[in-house]
Amino acid sequence: CGIVGIVGKEPVAERLFDGLKRLEYRGYDSAGICTLTEDGFDRRRAEGKLNNLRAELDAKPLSGDIGIAHTRWATHGAPVEKNAHPHIVGKVAIIHNGIIENFKPLREELAAEGREFQSDTDSEVVGHLVDREIQAGKSPRDAVAAVLSRLQGAFGMAFLFLDHPDLIIGARHGSPLTVGFGEGENYLGSDAIALAPLSQRIAYLDDGDWVVLTPDAVEIYDKDNERVEREIVNSGASA
Ligand code: GLU
Repeated sequence: CGIVGIVGKEPVAERLFDGLKRLEYRGYDSAGICTLTEDGFDRRRAEGKLNNLRAELDAKPLSGDIGIAHTRWATHGAPVEKNAHPHIVGKVAIIHNGIIENFKPLREELAAEGREFQSDTDSEVVGHLVDREIQAGKSPRDAVAAVLSRLQGAFGMAFLFLDHPDLIIGARHGSPLTVGFGEGENYLGSDAIALAPLSQRIAYLDDGDWVVLTPDAVEIYDKDNERVEREIVNSGASA
């Protein structure tokens, strides 16, 4: 339902939580945040209202200068913690808005290879597909590009990669996704309102676009994997 991502130079957990707060108006049934540190992925998730995630964060704060956060509105799988995003699959963490229509055959294909699922969501399938490409030796970009061509349905997504602590990749098809530009940091959000305190300089991705974010650069690709520029505008959203 809602997406926020930060690839930056300062701790992200509290800023990601603020972004989720700003997305509450869209409705949700659970929420979660995943960061990446020297020790690997770290994650807090909670069903119900953001107060529950707040309590998790207070009890066990999350460190890390890169992370992704999600408010979920369940379509596949009950609104319980194990189905809350982010999903961590091997070397990949994923958040997803929307529905992967062809997740069943994809899940069967992955299960036949011995892959085990920790949730009932359509979204986790995409994490497995990307992890499979990474484990086979592909770069994160090539892995995501290969997987996007296999997905049917609507999605806004963001990925973290265990071996790339300065990289977020986002993709959209049918669901909106917005890039925010910062100084030595860059941001991803399902809308400009979520990003307003972080940056007012934003670019709206076109349908089919995917984006590679590092602290110092944003590269946007279209559905044919051609590098494209999208206009940077002032969001006008109030911080
Ligand atoms: N289809 C996904 C799920 O049920 C994402 C739902 C959403 O947009 O939050 O987990």
